[in-house]
Amino acid sequence: MYMLELKRSLDAKGHCVLEMPSGTGKTISLLSLIVAYMKAHPLEVTKFIYCSRTVPELEKVVEELKNLMKYYEQQLGDDKPKILGLALSSRKNLCIHPEVASERDGKTVDALCHKLTASYVRANHKKDQSVPVCNFYEMFDRHGRELPLPEGIYGLDELKEYGMRKGFCPYFMARYALTHANIIVYSYYYLLDPKIADQVSKELSKKAVVVFDEAHNIDNVCIESMSVNITRRTLDKCATNIDNLNKHIQRIKETDADRLKNEYQKLVQGLRDASVARETDIILSNPVLPDEILQEAVPGNIRTGEHFIAFMKRFLEYMKIRLRAQHVVSETPPSFLKDCQQRVCIERKPLRFCAERLRSLMRTLELAEIQDYSALTLLCNFATLVSTYAKGFVLIIEPFDDRTPNIFNPVLHLSCMDASIAIKPGL
Ligand code: SF4
Repeated sequence: MYMLELKRSLDAKGHCVLEMPSGTGKTISLLSLIVAYMKAHPLEVTKFIYCSRTVPELEKVVEELKNLMKYYEQQLGDDKPKILGLALSSRKNLCIHPEVASERDGKTVDALCHKLTASYVRANHKKDQSVPVCNFYEMFDRHGRELPLPEGIYGLDELKEYGMRKGFCPYFMARYALTHANIIVYSYYYLLDPKIADQVSKELSKKAVVVFDEAHNIDNVCIESMSVNITRRTLDKCATNIDNLNKHIQRIKETDADRLKNEYQKLVQGLRDASVARETDIILSNPVLPDEILQEAVPGNIRTGEHFIAFMKRFLEYMKIRLRAQHVVSETPPSFLKDCQQRVCIERKPLRFCAERLRSLMRTLELAEIQDYSALTLLCNFATLVSTYAKGFVLIIEPFDDRTPNIFNPVLHLSCMDASIAIKPGL
């Protein structure tokens, strides 16, 4: 019955919601039907994407997929479908670099990997061999793309084992293989969080069947991915970040002023040109910016590095004023922007560019320690979101934390109330 309804949805190229009690074979029913459907309609369905929430769930799907392939082999021998299926997870779960992989925190692993693989780090390594790089990435970059993964089903352990054998980074190898894999098993975030989907899932075929396991979580994932919380601690760290960026700008101005001039020229052309970067340069892209913005020239008042720093200092001061609120404030993005304009003369337009402007500056300054700038990145993401979306968001400032109601500990929440905003670019 379930299978029949599912098959009808596939025929109709429509959507289907499937509700089955746990333990009744939901996963294997889905896998067997969709794989058979791909085999029967190879031109209509070229990819099967299975989205799960946690790593153990993801591994479970891969196990079921392996069982299914074993069954095909028993029944059809050499006529079994030639399928490449793989799981993709974060660097934390796929890294094989001895020092980086021993870190437990995902953000630390991302940051350490970035420090070894950013294009400017690799360029410096060519001039000076003592600058460390990741040999697994280097090997993958040299040979990995011509040597695609052989057919088979690869869970995280198989990817790591294959990477070890060939000397390739399993994470970048799996990301590269997404484009030609027939079956992909990965986390919701790779498809739903626009910051990640923009890099990982952009090239995926339109002729794909997508399954969301435990789909009632979709709303929360979308909303979480577009919401930002800012505390006083964040703002204090931002002040330090801005000072450090300024020092870097002054240093580059003295040693390599052309680099800043080149960036300025690129920003006149628009962010799209300025943000062309290699796969390793971006750990996370910024909140969704509508396409037309990326084509526009960056506003003059944040185009030079120094002007951007002065602009961010002013915005930071404004945020500090807002966080002094003694009672709960709830407002819409337009009213926040109006107040910002009236108090510190900051317009909406440059705010929209903040996230990408910071990214471009960090690349120009060749700052590999991205994690050190996480507070400023958060503030810039907030600036971009609050100035890009007039609807679907609410801004709440709470002076006290529920856990410590007598201690002044303000937090500003920019909460996304409309999951469709996040999911739109992926549709
Ligand atoms: S390139 Fe791959 S193996 Fe090297 S540090 Fe990054 S994730 Fe780890």
